[in-house]
Amino acid sequence: MNRRNFLRSSGALSAATLLASRNQAEAASRLKKRERVLILGAGLAGLAAAYYLTKKDVPVTILEARNRPGGRVFTQQVDPESKLHAELGAEWVGVSHNRMIELCRELGLPLLNHQFDTHLLLDGTHYPAGKWNFDAGWEGTYRKLLADFKGLSEKQGRTYDRLDWWRYLNNHGIPERDLEIKELLDSTDFGESIRNVSAFSSLSEYAFSSEKNEMDFRIEGGNSRFVQGLAAKIGTSNILLGKKAKLVRQDTGDVTVVCEDGTQHSGSRLICTVPVFAMNKINWQPALPAAKVEALNELQYCRIIKSVVVFKERFWQEDTFDMITDTPGHYFFHSSKNQPGTKGTLTSYAVGDKAHMLSRMNKEVRKSVICDAIRPVFGNVLPHAEEVVSYYWGGDPYTQGAYAIYDTRQWFGIRQELARPYRNVSFAGEHLADWQGFMEGAVQTGEDAARALAG
Ligand SMILES: Cc1cc2nc3c(=O)[nH]c(=O)nc-3n(C[C@H](O)[C@H](O)[C@H](O)COP(=O)(O)OP(=O)(O)OC[C@H]3O[C@@H](n4cnc5c(N)ncnc54)[C@H](O)[C@@H]3O)c2cc1C
Repeated sequence: MNRRNFLRSSGALSAATLLASRNQAEAASRLKKRERVLILGAGLAGLAAAYYLTKKDVPVTILEARNRPGGRVFTQQVDPESKLHAELGAEWVGVSHNRMIELCRELGLPLLNHQFDTHLLLDGTHYPAGKWNFDAGWEGTYRKLLADFKGLSEKQGRTYDRLDWWRYLNNHGIPERDLEIKELLDSTDFGESIRNVSAFSSLSEYAFSSEKNEMDFRIEGGNSRFVQGLAAKIGTSNILLGKKAKLVRQDTGDVTVVCEDGTQHSGSRLICTVPVFAMNKINWQPALPAAKVEALNELQYCRIIKSVVVFKERFWQEDTFDMITDTPGHYFFHSSKNQPGTKGTLTSYAVGDKAHMLSRMNKEVRKSVICDAIRPVFGNVLPHAEEVVSYYWGGDPYTQGAYAIYDTRQWFGIRQELARPYRNVSFAGEHLADWQGFMEGAVQTGEDAARALAG
């Protein structure tokens, strides 16, 4: 059973999917006149929706606030001399992420192995990959908990949704040291402490994740090639950049979007894929229902800073080097894996308060704090560091965070409300997905919303 099927059977499948299939036949007949569909946001949800509709011959216009498509998929060249590139947003495509894999194949984009063998740096001691582990007894208990979760009833699911992940692990007897390591590891997945995430949300992720926790592939040449590939299929003239929506008006049959630059755009339907922070800033006429506004105000996004350090040489030696640490740099990985050259990059992936703290430092201080973090393993590497390129998603003007984080009671609480269509507007995006927090989820919700309109 895959994650989606499980969520369907446990009564927790995204409301977007359920509502989409319910409204499908009716909406499809309404769109027969080949009316234009507007899409807010050229992230993966918006692009996937537009690509689906384009294939059905439905005209689309995407309105994107930034001057680039891709949203949280953002590949950047980090060193002009070596041409090394790195991901400042989404990094891994998981082996269970079927739609991403299928679409990469369709777009002719090879997927490269991007798996790592994890070292541990804890209390100043370095444990190389394969030389550390969880307590054997706890390993067995944990495996059983994940297996049992797959047979869970909706009622039990709701019970777990009332617990946070840290407490759930504690209640099931995780040893203290293992809990410390779990906090470090799992907080990289959720972007905040595991005290801030629903146990149901965590279990549904880990019970269905691949062996390497969906950290399996990366697109050759960078994940932004996926964005470019979809944009080319949709037609770049249908993707309008620098169009920040400030007002959405729904009249009897139409939807009109007014952008900050004064332009107006109309269509018979709108698919809104913008993150909740940005959605809340839009003037909706008529106003969104109170329950939806409440849900928008409740959902938080996690804070992540990615800092890509360009080094003169790859002193870590192992191509598959990554390391979880209890230092401010948090998690490190060899981000130039599969890119040739003498120079190399290590990315520091810091979450929560650590991310915020690093974001407040000037570049030189940040570089030295990150290099200092790995000193117990490699000595003083600062003289080898040429550059650091960082992006702090907690300060991003449109998301104010990296991805949504479902706290206790929220998975079964506000998700349905966030996904509920409103008149001629339907909603999509990572935050509504079964594979929440992943590119796969963004794509699936975009396609679901498009399918609901065009069949
Ligand atoms: C640091 C980080 C690491 C990640 N790692 C991974 C990973 O390893 N693997 C993985 O699968 N996923 C990962 N993700 C998650 C993945 O990037 C997202 O799930 C996905 O890209 C979200 O797509 P989206 O279309 O839902 O949202 P977005 O990409 O945010 O797209 C929404 C778009 O709407 C636009 N917009 C906002 N407001 C307006 C407005 N008013 N008018 C017009 N346009 C507007 C935005 O500019 C944006 O382009 C990561 C994300 C981050 C930030």
